[in-house]
Amino acid sequence: MVHAIYPGTFDPVHNGHLDIINRAALLFDQLVIGVFDHEAAGKQIKKVAFSAATRIQFIEQNIQHLSNVRVMPYNMLTVDFAHAAGAAVIVRGLRVFSDFEFEFRMAHANQRLAPEIDVVTLLAREEHTFLSGTTVREIAAFNGDVSTMVPANVEAALKKLYQT
Ligand code: ADP
Repeated sequence: MVHAIYPGTFDPVHNGHLDIINRAALLFDQLVIGVFDHEAAGKQIKKVAFSAATRIQFIEQNIQHLSNVRVMPYNMLTVDFAHAAGAAVIVRGLRVFSDFEFEFRMAHANQRLAPEIDVVTLLAREEHTFLSGTTVREIAAFNGDVSTMVPANVEAALKKLYQT
């Protein structure tokens, strides 16, 4: 049995994330999606648009067909979260070449901290390579159409968040 975690901010979850989740669910016996909870971590690392509870709900509503996947908040080092979840693998998505340098450094840092945990990166599908939480939020903030980029529940929440 190989257990994996897929950690991230997911602010909010978009179709690029959901594609990685669906593909990782086929590769691993159990997948735990780790939603980083900046508030609980008590560190001003990054400002988020949606609370961790809301980001978790957005994901849960889109993974009901995946029986081996669950979502949890976390507020610790990713390797510590992997240990707590009993996972031997950290899944990450790679979009464009600029992601590579960041992921490469992170993977080596995590390897130093926990050599027994491996990082598996899945290449983004071509149609999702431009998608990020920031891009989606910026388009939605100016009333742009994000219906091809995010699931319906997230589209509705973005409309509500940015309505004037
Ligand atoms: P973002 O805010 O950039 O979407 P997250 O921190 O939520 O980033 O990302 C969590 C993980 O999902 C990271 O491994 C990231 O590289 C990956 N990811 C983000 N966007 C995509 C995408 N469009 N396609 C595939 N993987 C992605």
